[in-house]
This record gives sequence, C-alpha cells and structure tokens, in this order.
Amino acid sequence: MKILVPVKRVIDYNVKPRVKADGSGVDLANVKMSMNPFDEISVEEAIRLKEAGKAEEIVAVSIGPAKATETLRTALAMGADRAILVETDDEVEPLAVAKILKAIVDEESPRLVITGKQAIDDDSNQTGQMLAALLGWGQGTFANTVEVEGEAITVKREIDGGLQTVKLNLPAVVTTDLRLNEPRYASLPNIMKAKSKPLDTKTPGDYGVDTTPRLTTTNVGEPPKREAGEILEDVDALVAKLKDMGVA
Ligand code: AMP
Repeated sequence: MKILVPVKRVIDYNVKPRVKADGSGVDLANVKMSMNPFDEISVEEAIRLKEAGKAEEIVAVSIGPAKATETLRTALAMGADRAILVETDDEVEPLAVAKILKAIVDEESPRLVITGKQAIDDDSNQTGQMLAALLGWGQGTFANTVEVEGEAITVKREIDGGLQTVKLNLPAVVTTDLRLNEPRYASLPNIMKAKSKPLDTKTPGDYGVDTTPRLTTTNVGEPPKREAGEILEDVDALVAKLKDMGVA
C-alpha cells in the first residue's frame, strides 16, 4: 500500500503571530516556519504503518513556496520515501489544495491519504474532507487510533464527549487529531540521508488547477487584550461587584 501525506509549511506553533499594521494578514517576515503539527502526526502514523508492514511507500506532498522544500525534507528525514513540491507563492485555499491533491492521487494511486485535521495558520479544517468528497472516498476524521486490516481501516474518532469508532473500506482519507501519536524527531543520520531522497517539483498548472482565491480577507486583527484582574476582600465584596457589573 502507498500512503500519501500532505504536509503544510506554517508559522511555527511557538511563535506569537504579529498582525500587519494595515490589518491585511499576519506578518511572516523573519518568522520561524515549521511543519504543521498535525502533519507531523500524519507522517508519524504513516511511518508506523510502514514499520508494521501495512504500507510499502510514503509520499509527502506540500503545496507552497520553494521554502516548503524544507518541510518536505523534514518529512523525508522522519521516514517518508519521496516528496512532491507543488510550487506556488500564492496563498492556496483548501478547495484548491484538495483539487491538487486529487490530481496527485489520480496519478499516484495511494490507498490511503493521511492529512492533518487542520492547518494551524488558517484553522480551516476543510482540506481532508473536501479531498474525500472529490475522490468519492470514505473519510475518518479527527483520528485518535488507526488500524489497517486488509482492505479495511478502523478509525477511532475524537468527538465531543468521547470516541466514535468507524470502519471504512480502502481507499480512504484519514485526518489526524492530537492524541493519535507522538511524532519522532529525525536523527542526524536520517537528516543527512533525506538530502538524497527524491523530491519532484511541480506547479498547480501541471495539475490543471486554478489557485485564484475565492475568499477575500476583509480584516485580520489582534485578539482583545486581557484586562488586569482584581483581588477582592471576601465573598460579599465579590457578590456586590458581580451585581454591580449586572452578572449576578
Ligand atoms: P486546512 O483544511 O487548511 O485546515 O488543512 C488541513 C490539512 O490539509 C493540513 O493539516 C494538511 O495536511 C493539508 N494541507 C492544507 N494545506 C496544505 C498545503 N498547502 N500543502 C500541503 N498540505 C496541505
């Protein structure tokens, strides 16, 4: 079985994003970028399936600027076998990403696509679902546990208040949630080895996909500042204060 793993280059999760002064977006100048954390979990899960003898090849794909090559090299260093960069400097929305991924699936014929549940920059949580719809495949989203048995895959899904178990026939799309696994760090020898693994470069045009945005961002703003707290003497003072504020 071949597994396709889409990985997105996003602002590092430890970085506090700065909003551009004109409110047009987040300032990415000189900001540390990394692989989307949910995509690290996807790569890890694909590697575990390969190590368990359930998969033979892992192909990582990224749609983004030339620098997304670094993200792909990270996936290769973790254990992916080869990579495809679909190079574009445009901001590509989930539907266009899903269309590009569909074209790659048509070409590569994987039995399983593992995406992250969401990219932490746009928080869309759409791409995996759209891809499954475009392909007409089943989808197991927000995966907490994944088990492949022959032509079927069982996915325990994180839902409000518990876990839901679904069984899908392959081919299928799975999207990963936080508790699925703990991604490994790439070792130095594997980072070196990754440099010589195959990496193809394509463009959205090669797949006949128009990446023109369908949405217009009208404004990006900072979240409201938290106001300083106040320490009150006793419960009576608290109740009086709450009454004053009209909440009690
Ligand atoms: P989203 O729907 O944007 O929240 O993204 C969900 C998942 O789709 C991500 O975790 C990635 O696995 C995949 N994805 C989204 N955008 C890209 C991209 N530009 N390149 C590769 N994978 C992507």
